[in-house]
Amino acid sequence: MSTVLVTGGMGFIGSHTVIALNESGYDVVIVDNLSNSKTEALNRLRMITGKDFRFYRADCRDKEAMRTVFEENKIDSVIHFAGLKAVGESVRMPIEYYDNNINSMLTVLELMNEYNVTDLVFSSSATVYGESEDVPFTEESPLGMCTNPYGWTKWMIEQILRDTSRAYPSMRIALLRYFNPVGAHESGLIGEDPNGIPNNLFPYISKVAIGALEKLTIFGDDYDTPDGTCLRDYIHVCDLAEGHVKALRYIATNEAGIDVFNLGTGKGTSVKEALSAFEKACGHKIPAVIGPRRAGDIPVCYASTKKAEEKLGFRATRTVEEMCDSCWNWQTKNPNGLSDKAE
Ligand code: NAD
Ligand code: UDP
Repeated sequence: MSTVLVTGGMGFIGSHTVIALNESGYDVVIVDNLSNSKTEALNRLRMITGKDFRFYRADCRDKEAMRTVFEENKIDSVIHFAGLKAVGESVRMPIEYYDNNINSMLTVLELMNEYNVTDLVFSSSATVYGESEDVPFTEESPLGMCTNPYGWTKWMIEQILRDTSRAYPSMRIALLRYFNPVGAHESGLIGEDPNGIPNNLFPYISKVAIGALEKLTIFGDDYDTPDGTCLRDYIHVCDLAEGHVKALRYIATNEAGIDVFNLGTGKGTSVKEALSAFEKACGHKIPAVIGPRRAGDIPVCYASTKKAEEKLGFRATRTVEEMCDSCWNWQTKNPNGLSDKAE
């Protein structure tokens, strides 16, 4: 059985990917420092899968702690999710973001090298395409100027991995550029659990729908789009999780080197469309007002999915309605996320 080290495996995308890996017959070892997740996620994973996953509470920058993980397990591949991801926070705390995200990746790479682990899947983001308006984004679209330190960490790590692939030709690396991951596992036991007031659209709508926040502010309705609000490529987190399994299989069965794939649906959904789909899911009207545009927002962002379809055999199948239903199911079953559970 092939063993995958999942860093950041207690977080939103990582925990869903652990389930997909388990379903596909992989053995999983999780490392997370719990800076943005709770140990309760591990109990939830056990409830969903019936399995006890090996979990190390460790910081990926801590080389000795990470060496223990590689020493105690025969790791065959790594999916590196661990990282800080809040755009606004990264503007206020650039040093922490560069330190955490870049040094985590470098330490993991050093240990992969030391223990002859060649296969790596990295969580990148569509944010590396910058502010271009030339949609859909293909993997060949030029990388843009990022608008915040978070985006630059993804951009820089992609470059680090391209250089590493050149210097270590036996490595097999997939860079996955996620579009907008949303939704939750069908059980409603795990989902997105942001700290404080959410910045992203789906968690924000969800908090308004449950009454924890007063109203949604739609950031601008005067864009050059069909209903004036921005379009984004929302992808169900369970589809995204399955994309990781496909990427892992792809690198294991293809020539060494580095390749990059968009993971999206190829379809743009407007803020107003997302809101009305969520209203259908929760069965009531969600208060919303139109506000000014948010700095740095691009009007339209969606993926070309051709390369992922052709090379990975990956196609997202879940609809925006399913994204809203699952998000609402998670929200109503866990009104405070996992926060009120004992650590
Ligand atoms: P998340 O915050 O829910 O999960 C990340 C996990 O990593 C958390 O559990 C956190 O505790 C852990 N972590 C952070 N720094 C660590 C460190 N130094 N050592 C060990 N663990 C650490 O975020 P997510 O939404 O699941 O995102 C996972 C990855 O995907 C991140 O790298 C993120 O940047 C990337 N990504 C996310 C999105 C999105 O919209 N959610 C979009 C594009 C890319
Ligand atoms: N958005 C909004 N109100 C909010 C949060 C987001 O109108 O409270 C809009 C935002 O302007 C963007 C879309 O919803 O057009 C998706 O935003 P999100 O931050 O989730 O993703 P990103 O813009 O980073 O792709």
